[in-house]
Amino acid sequence: MPGPLPVCTDDLHSYNFPFVTRSEWHARVPKLTLPLPTPVPYVVIHHSYSPAACVNGEQCRRAMRTMQDMHMDGQNWGDIGYNFAVGSDGMAYEGRGWHALGAHALHFNSVSLGICVIGDWRHDLPPENQLETTKSLIAAGVELGYISPDYKLIGHRQVGPTECPGDALYGEIQTWKHYSPHPASCEDLLDLKEISEKVKEVIRGNATYDDYYFIKKD
Ligand SMILES: [Zn+2]
Repeated sequence: MPGPLPVCTDDLHSYNFPFVTRSEWHARVPKLTLPLPTPVPYVVIHHSYSPAACVNGEQCRRAMRTMQDMHMDGQNWGDIGYNFAVGSDGMAYEGRGWHALGAHALHFNSVSLGICVIGDWRHDLPPENQLETTKSLIAAGVELGYISPDYKLIGHRQVGPTECPGDALYGEIQTWKHYSPHPASCEDLLDLKEISEKVKEVIRGNATYDDYYFIKKD
């Protein structure tokens, strides 16, 4: 296992929930980082499905490294796909962070932050501390100006063909204040004013990812 690598983190905020930086989970250096325009109008909730839920710091740091390896080596993405993750230990884990374009929801990365609730939440709900930290992390993003105060919260399945974030967790987030039932499918992205015309052309099939480097990469 590689040792800790120096990573520039300018977000040394103090949070009112436990926060684990990239260097603390021994993240690899990203192969590619592109800027995310903020404040973002959307927050996308994911589950990891695999790795399974982690209940202590050691397990969760390992889960972060596993996901980063899967995304960088398996998918050939620039870094772990998510902007943040939250463990069943109640800790928030820094992924790409507030400033970097994520790779978590195709066609939707440039208008959203992606948060992975680590575990398989098809049948079971995450423990309360994991849900509370997820809410606190989003609130911190609003407070810091990285998430629009009137942001919309959605599940990954609303913008792509996936069961993510699992039926149980998806039912839970539908009770959260900022949950939005729209978009309900990838086709709805064509109606969203926040999605650029270039991305809409890709969705319509009139352009290819090759035309748009950042989409292809993520
Ligand atoms: Zn997902």
